[in-house]
Amino acid sequence: MNHFNEDIIKAMNDGLVLTDTHQTVIFVNPGFVALLGYAPEEIIGRKWLDIIPSENYDMVLEAERRRARGLSDRYEMVLQHKNGEEKEVLIDASPRFDKTTGEFSGTIGFVTDITQRKKDQLALQKNLLRYRLLFEQSPIGVFHFDNDGTIVDCNDNFVTIIGSSREALIGLNMLDLPDNKLVKQLQNALNGYTGFYEGVYHSVTAEKSTPVKVYVSPLLDKDGRSFGCVGIVEDVTEQKQARDALRQKQALHRKLLANIGDVIVIIDRDGINRYKSPNIEKWFGWKPEEVVGTSTWENVHPDDLAPAQRFFAEILQKPRNMGTVECRYRCKDETYKWIEFTGTNLLDDPDIQGVLGNYKDITERKNAEKDREKLQAQLTQAQKMESVGRLAGGVAHDFNNMLGVILGYTELALLRTDDNHKLKADLKEIQKAAQRSADITKQLLAFARKQTISPRKLDVNDTVESMLKMLRRLIGEDIDLVWQPGAHLRPVKMDPTQINQILVNLCVNARDAIAGVGKIAIETGPHSFDADYCNDHPGFIPGDFVLLSVSDNGCGMDMETLDNLFEPFFTTKEIGEGTGLGLATVYGIVKQNNGFINVYSEPDQGTIFRIYLPRYVSTDEAPAAVHPDKPLPSGHETILLVEDEPAILRMTRMMLERKGYSVVSAATPTEAMALAQTHAETIDLLMTDVVMPEMDGGDLAERVTGLYPEIKVLFMSGYTADMIAHRGVLDGRVAFIQKPFSMKDLTEKLRETLDG
Ligand code: ADP
Ligand code: MG
Repeated sequence: MNHFNEDIIKAMNDGLVLTDTHQTVIFVNPGFVALLGYAPEEIIGRKWLDIIPSENYDMVLEAERRRARGLSDRYEMVLQHKNGEEKEVLIDASPRFDKTTGEFSGTIGFVTDITQRKKDQLALQKNLLRYRLLFEQSPIGVFHFDNDGTIVDCNDNFVTIIGSSREALIGLNMLDLPDNKLVKQLQNALNGYTGFYEGVYHSVTAEKSTPVKVYVSPLLDKDGRSFGCVGIVEDVTEQKQARDALRQKQALHRKLLANIGDVIVIIDRDGINRYKSPNIEKWFGWKPEEVVGTSTWENVHPDDLAPAQRFFAEILQKPRNMGTVECRYRCKDETYKWIEFTGTNLLDDPDIQGVLGNYKDITERKNAEKDREKLQAQLTQAQKMESVGRLAGGVAHDFNNMLGVILGYTELALLRTDDNHKLKADLKEIQKAAQRSADITKQLLAFARKQTISPRKLDVNDTVESMLKMLRRLIGEDIDLVWQPGAHLRPVKMDPTQINQILVNLCVNARDAIAGVGKIAIETGPHSFDADYCNDHPGFIPGDFVLLSVSDNGCGMDMETLDNLFEPFFTTKEIGEGTGLGLATVYGIVKQNNGFINVYSEPDQGTIFRIYLPRYVSTDEAPAAVHPDKPLPSGHETILLVEDEPAILRMTRMMLERKGYSVVSAATPTEAMALAQTHAETIDLLMTDVVMPEMDGGDLAERVTGLYPEIKVLFMSGYTADMIAHRGVLDGRVAFIQKPFSMKDLTEKLRETLDG
């Protein structure tokens, strides 16, 4: 070996080993020494078979024989390093031949350490396997398509999700799929963009439709060259179901919130609106976004603000505090609605972080409450009028009796006094004063509905017309009296003097309300109200009515006056100018006739009184008796006079006897019955008080009639004839005289009764 060769051999990393034909090692280079850790003298001279593992003997001996025939071999085996470490080596063994004889002279072997390479190879294989498994067993579908869109590989999940077969998928060109959106996305990926697609995928081969999400991403090698794209497919059936369910739930909530009667609200601790359900627009006109973010107090009625805020502060005190408050809430059109707010403190609930509650529209209920209050007030007023009336009536009744006595005796005294007698003037004064008192008492009785009346069928237009002259005189020349009779008026059943009383009182009041010149209008007309109208108009009564209205353009009235108008003795006039009995009288008369009054007035705007009188319905009505104006008539008949008030009894007896009648008088019904039974001659007429302690006049009359079937009866009373006929309205066939009566009244009534 020349030096050149020797240098190469020394410098070689690989090991070099020479054996002779007996496989004895005859040379090793430093590379071989380094490979196995033995010094050259420890190896040279040893048999090759001693160095290699015994399992390789056969293979090595076979190779040796082939080399003797001139063939080379390459094989791998494991050699043991001196320190026990195993070295994987690749051996290239070639035959050597003697240069001179040409005989086979041994083997030259190149030994390369491939331990590291083997390790690397194994690692690489493992890696590849790992990636393959990753690809194969990914819980999602993975597919690879090349630059023209053809699927080159895919995993089993992909096949499963798509619901097709591997054979059908591999080689499929995705750009030919009918789904434009997907194709577009794939093209984007091929152009270098990562994409995302979610849709219902319709399998190409199976009848299966699966909602899938597809991600695609371009694939680049380490030099940046594109080699197609990777796609990931995810079955989103469950996600989609969950999302659909959620969407459905949300839709349900939205519909609930929109269609529930109330408005659902969330208000934070500072009173700022955080949420209003959409139906706030339906109830209040606000769109939720117009109020959310603003202070809730802005829309609360100023009068309700303090209690509402107090309520809110109370709720804020403690988590879960709950409560209800009523207040008026402003609508977009600036009107207010009554709401009931029920709220719960959910500040500690992370989803709410405020007071959660609802607005309930209670406007209708509130209005009903107001109506109820109004009705209650009306009822209270009516009850008050009733008790005042009873009181006034009671006083007036006794008063009336006394005035009867005063008037009667004065009249008798005047009859007995010559015109030039010095007491005559005094007696006249007494009579005048008593008469005035009797007038007042009469008004009180009218208010208390205790006025005695003789109602008859009459036409209101005719009645008013007959009074116009008198009314014009009453109101004076500065005031224009306009009379507008309504057409087609139905008759009413009423005492005409009561219409007179009504008109006089109303016209006098109207006159007093007008300073200087002015106008008073009297109108009539038919009017009907049905139950519906009356429900909406408290105080009105259903039925057919005749309207009698008196209006003026005078000073009008304020609320306080209107509230007290009909009370007896209520007046705004100076002492001596008003008695306060005018409207009380009108009120009593209208009530007695089952009608009602309606007043409309405002300060300085004039006043209108509307009186509704029920129209007459019955047909069997006897015309009222006419009183001819005769000088005091006399008689000779026998009269049984019954009266529990001694003064009146005495006075009446005197009056009767003066006119020629025979009088049998009794202070009680019992006494009267006794007298009637024992009286020798016939009795022509029973004149009796109606209200008496033991027995009322009606019963007495019945009994006496039993004894004297032909007897006539004349009732007298300060009251209406409540006991005889119903509701204070006297039966037209019964004769009646109201206390106090004058001699003229009495004698005329007596003759009328006896001769009738
Ligand atoms: P009087 O006329 O004696 O005061 P009334 O009972 O007739 O008593 O009337 C009561 C009050 O009602 C009157 O004092 C007046 O204040 C008021 N009033 C009645 N009618 C009218 C009217 N037409 N215009 C203004 N005020 C009126
Ligand atoms: Mg008056």
